[in-house]
Amino acid sequence: MNLKNLRRDNDKNFYSVYYKIMNENISKALKESRKIVIKIGSNTLAKADGTQNTEFMASFAEQCAKLIKEGKQIVLVSSGAQVAGVSTTKEWARKKDVHYRQALCSIGQVELMHQWRKAFQTQGIHIGQLLLTKDDFENEHRSLNIRNTLFTLVDEGVVPIINENDSVSFDEIKIGDNDNLSALTAILWSADLLILFSDIDGIYSDNPKTNKDAKLIETVKSIPDLRKSITIGDTNSFGTGGIETKIQAAEKTTVYGIPMLLANGSKENVLVNLENGNSNATLFLAE
Ligand code: GLU
Repeated sequence: MNLKNLRRDNDKNFYSVYYKIMNENISKALKESRKIVIKIGSNTLAKADGTQNTEFMASFAEQCAKLIKEGKQIVLVSSGAQVAGVSTTKEWARKKDVHYRQALCSIGQVELMHQWRKAFQTQGIHIGQLLLTKDDFENEHRSLNIRNTLFTLVDEGVVPIINENDSVSFDEIKIGDNDNLSALTAILWSADLLILFSDIDGIYSDNPKTNKDAKLIETVKSIPDLRKSITIGDTNSFGTGGIETKIQAAEKTTVYGIPMLLANGSKENVLVNLENGNSNATLFLAE
């Protein structure tokens, strides 16, 4: 097919063919993966006013249920405890002391799981909760137990939902961000694919919010080359991560042979559209 001619004939048609080819790899990565870890960031789970985006959670649970019916297994890593804590207490938003933040997360974690439970219950799916710290992954016995729990839950059709145990974490033992936590989870559970849902479509050559000419990078074969070619900005509004921790997550999983997809979680039906090749993202290929 001559894409150049097609573009001259009909621009709209050209772009639909172009995106189809571009998204084929993404669609293939999802179709060929059975065990998938999906991380959802705070910005995807919260609305602009900081309240929980329950519509998103309901739609996401429905999409997960569809994939599970197709024979896939899903482990979720969900952020959003702190945001949910702030939106529940209303008054602690400005308190920055560690003990207040830990207390906020303990309140918010309940709210978060309450909403996830409602969303998955509608689909007839049970959920389980695991709250982890860096220590848990470094200790052989604990990590083996986490692995066994994950296998058991998933084999029984339950969706495990993981978050960092923010209420007990302090600097020495905390992972600090759920991008890295989800990468460690994907490795521990021997996942086939890690998907990070954020509020951006993928990795751009520059910040797309400030530079109109920034280009989406569709496939990353070499992370060192990627690091040389892009500008890494700051973290986003509610989350703790930003692009740096997403690249760190890809560095972790790809050496273990696990590809990673970075996509925009707030797009409608994103999971299903990625699988059908109708949504773009950045795919980090496994080494
Ligand atoms: N564990 C934090 C929370 O639930 C989020 C960490 C992150 O955004 O990466 O609020």
